[in-house]
Parts: sequence; structure tokens; C-alpha cells
Amino acid sequence: MAYPTIDQAPLPQAPAERAAPEEVIRADIAIIGSGMGGGTMAYALKDSGAKVLVIERGHRLPAEPQNSDLDEVYLKGRYKNADTWYNGRIGAAFKPGVYYWVGGNTKVYGACLPRFRASDFEETQHQDGTSPAWPFSYDDLEPYYTRAEELFQVHGQTGEDPTEPPHSKAYPYPALDHEPAIQDLADSFRRQGLHPFRMPNGLDADTPEKRALCATSDGAPNEAGLKADAEKVAIDPAIAAGATLLTDTKVTRLIPGPGGRTIVAALAENNGRVIRIEADKFILAAGAVNSAALLLRSATPESPRGLANSSGLLGRNYMVHNSTFFIGINPFRVNRTLWQKTLGLNDWYEAGPTNKYPLGNLQMLGKLRASMLKMARSWAPNPILKAMSDRSIDIYLTTEDLPRRDNGISVIDGKIHVWWEPNNLGPHQELVRRVSKAVRKAGYPVIFSERMGIETNSHQCGTAVAGKDPRTSVLTPDCRAHDLDNLWIVDSSFFPSSAALNPALTIAANALRVADTILAAGHSPARTQATGSDHRSASET
Ligand SMILES: Cc1cc2nc3c(=O)[nH]c(=O)nc-3n(C[C@H](O)[C@H](O)[C@H](O)COP(=O)(O)OP(=O)(O)OC[C@H]3O[C@@H](n4cnc5c(N)ncnc54)[C@H](O)[C@@H]3O)c2cc1C
Repeated sequence: MAYPTIDQAPLPQAPAERAAPEEVIRADIAIIGSGMGGGTMAYALKDSGAKVLVIERGHRLPAEPQNSDLDEVYLKGRYKNADTWYNGRIGAAFKPGVYYWVGGNTKVYGACLPRFRASDFEETQHQDGTSPAWPFSYDDLEPYYTRAEELFQVHGQTGEDPTEPPHSKAYPYPALDHEPAIQDLADSFRRQGLHPFRMPNGLDADTPEKRALCATSDGAPNEAGLKADAEKVAIDPAIAAGATLLTDTKVTRLIPGPGGRTIVAALAENNGRVIRIEADKFILAAGAVNSAALLLRSATPESPRGLANSSGLLGRNYMVHNSTFFIGINPFRVNRTLWQKTLGLNDWYEAGPTNKYPLGNLQMLGKLRASMLKMARSWAPNPILKAMSDRSIDIYLTTEDLPRRDNGISVIDGKIHVWWEPNNLGPHQELVRRVSKAVRKAGYPVIFSERMGIETNSHQCGTAVAGKDPRTSVLTPDCRAHDLDNLWIVDSSFFPSSAALNPALTIAANALRVADTILAAGHSPARTQATGSDHRSASET
């Protein structure tokens, strides 16, 4: 059966005009989204003298005992608050892997914070085609990676991973050591001629006591505040320096000015009220899907395909990684590891003597528990799931997927539709095969693996790629829209390729880089005061 394609999706429709706004707020710089990209941008601008306003659709996630209650987190979905998205090809609804809180997805992320490899910034041949070069190099981003590692308190050790690119400075904190079961796995990998390393991580878990407080923090919040998330390390310091945070405020539309080269205002909904936010500069950081969706929803008669979309590529080139959850079980050994995400393996990350094309990365998942398995296998009896998860090591495998015009997002009747057909699966299957062999040799004879589907999109990127040519990219190399003089995007929308590593540190480093270009250009003197009211107390819950 032939599925419909994204080209058959209707053009975006601008939302119906609402009543006159009930409040007008003015700022110098408005940042939409408070996650990795938006939070880091707010931090970078905090001492600029500009009136910085961060607009966030979610509110603060409570630190509460349920943060680490796995039934609450996984079976009851206590912190899952995203809207429903749709599979464009078949129309099926799904719950995406995104979270709307102050701090965005970083409230629940696993805080694995590796740099992309130098080769990720260069054109690279993969089995299914070419991964394009970025419009700037690893060397250009290196100083910002260093600053991002300091900001997000990354624990790591250079010199362990042969693929690691040069660092101008050591990691700010020592690498997190493996617990015994993971140390045994690393030792076995090393005996097999592989090069396991300690994965860079932004969790403050260097003592057994702290580890116990972090055991459930991959995929869930950390009640003890030991996770370097964007709320803690970026948004709160920005507020302390004078930035304003408007919570529970969803931006619904950007309004272009006369001539269409600038954005003059954002319309937003706050508890049923319509707010108009005016600013000199707008920075979009709502996540790769929501940022593109907002620009599509902002279509006008002059820009019927959405704002910043003269290339026709807005919302296209959606990438998300090929990823597999992989479990190795030793029926005779209980795995008592608390924080399992200390190990990484990049032996097949780049093409090499045994693999013509790049295969990808191996890293650990947070320790899987019965409630998490129950989510995927609700029919399985709890005692069996418990016996399995007590004896498993749990691994996450990622392979780069390639940008394709036909993979993308559209907004139909106001709802987000994702058009996604995975590519470059051959190398992913080969990665799973090689890891199966190595894990069996390490003493785990029983293996289960499952490739993730459309709803596992936490590594989404590419919906507004950066590039030099406005015909083939949405953003300039400095992440300003080619079509708009005062709109930047600093979430993972700008990624020209997805690499095969966790994206968050690269998002943060890039936000710091873009902030420098904004600061270097100077900001116009405060035209207006951000409305006198204290939006933190007025609007935060
Ligand atoms: C369970 C999980 C584990 C992860 N683990 C890792 C990891 O270990 N390492 C890693 O590198 N990455 C990890 N990630 C991915 C990482 O968290 C994201 O790549 C990163 O947070 C994306 O940053 P962002 O700024 O693009 O978006 P986000 O951090 O998602 O922030 C976007 C923000 O925009 C807000 N927003 C959206 N739409 C609007 C709107 N219209 N108006 C106002 N606000 C809006 C959202 O509420 C959100 O707060 C994980 C993600 C998940 C879900």
C-alpha cells in the first residue's frame, strides 16, 4: 500500500485571529522555550544589559518523592504532559518523547553529555547516502563545548575514547566510575580488543550515597537536585541576574512586521488569556518539532508556507536517530548497579578496517526496572519482568539517520503530524549484531533488543537546518533565519545532520556560540521596560 507523503499534506493555516490581547509585554530579547537551547541562551545573555524574557508553555516540575517512584513515572506517566502528535503516513496518534516543563526535556534527560566527533561536522559517507557537512567546524565550536561542559558540570575524562576530538581544557569534574557489574562489562570489552570509556555525564553522582539518590534519574526528574538540568544551571541563574520567566505561556504565532523581514510580536496563550509579546529580537528554542510548527502556524498571505520558509525546507529533514533498547541477561548474576550510565563505546562510530561505513554509539541506559518493562510489555507477569530486570544490563544503541526532504513535520488542523520513514538501518542492524556478540562474550547469554519507533523522538533535530545557501537551508551558519533579520533558532532544529551521539551538549554549545554573535552585534537600547510586574511571581506556579 502506498502511504501519503508530506508533500500531500495541506499548507499550514494561520490560526484564526483572536480577540485583542489582554496584556502587552515588551522586552529586548524574547526567548521561546526554556530547555537546553533556550535556557542556555538566557544564561548567556544574562549580563548583557538587555531585558531578557523567557516564555515557557510549561511550569516548574515539583521536586517531590514521586520523582523517583517508577510506577508514578512510567506506569502512570506523571510527568508526561506533551500534546498528542500524529503519524502523518498512517494518521495514528502517538505521545511524543517530549516534556513541557521549565527546563524542557532536560528535567528528565539522562545527562549524558558527549561532544559530537570532529567527523560529525564534515561530509561523511554512510551506507544509505551522504551526511552533509555543517556550516562551521568542530574547531569553531570547541571553545563553546568547553564553556557548555563547565555550565552543565560535565564529569568526564579525556584520553579514554579514541574517537574523542581535541579538548582545549580538561573536563571540569572527574569521570564517574563504573559500579562492579559495569566495570566487569568494560573489562570484558577491553579483553575483546574494544575501547570502552567513561561516558561524560552531568550528574553529581560521585559517591555511593549520591548514586542512591540518582538511581532512577534517566527518564525521570532528580528530587535531590543532583542533575545539571537547564532549569537549575541556566534558567535560575538568568532569573537571578534579572531575566524574566513567563510560565504556562504557549506561543501560538509570530507576527511579521511590514515588509516581512522582521518579527514584531509573538502571540501567546496564558491561562486562557491572549498576550502579545513585543521584542527587538526573538529566539526560538521550543524543540525541533515545536519550533518548526510555530513558524508553520505563523503563515500569512505573503508567506503561505510559513515564516522563514522561502527554501521550502522548514519542517523537512527531520532526524531522530535509529535507536535500539538492548538487554543482556545473565540468569545467574543480579545486577545491583544504581547508576548504570557510566560506560560508552565508540569503536564502530566511524568507518574503519572492519566497517566500511559508520555504525554508531553504544551507551548504557539507566538501570531498567520492572515498571519500565511493564510499559512496553503490559501482558508480561510482574515477577518475570522483575527477575529479568534484576539480572540485566541495559544498553542504548544509536546510529545516525540521514536528512531526507520527505521526513518532516506538518501542521494539519492545528495538530502536529510527523512524516518519518527510517533510513540507514543496515548499519544499525550491524551495530546490534556486533554488540550482541560482544555482550554474549561478556557473560550475558540471553539478549533482547527492540528498535524504537516514531514516539521515541527525544533526539529530534534538523527541521530548520543551518547552512550558507538560503536555497538549501533555513538558517544562516549563525542560526538566524535567512528570511528574517531578528529571529534565531537555537534548539536542535539547526542540525544539518544528526550524528549518532546525544545532542544536548551540542545544543548548549551552539546556543553559547550564537549568543556571542548576538552580543557582538549589540542590542538596541531598551526601547521599553519589560512590563513592570514581576512575571515570576505573577505567572509562575
Ligand atoms: C527521557 C529523555 C532522556 C534524554 N537523555 C539525554 C541524554 O542523556 N543526553 C542528551 O544529550 N540528550 C538527552 N535527551 C534529549 C535532550 O533532553 C534534548 O535533546 C534537549 O533537551 C533538547 O533541547 P531543546 O532546547 O531543543 O528542547 P527542550 O529541552 O525540549 O526545550 C523546549 C522547551 O520549549 C517549550 N515549548 C515548546 N513549545 C512552546 C511554545 N509554543 N511556547 C512556549 N514554550 C514552548 C517546551 O515546553 C520546552 O520547555 C533526553 C530526552 C529525554 C526525553
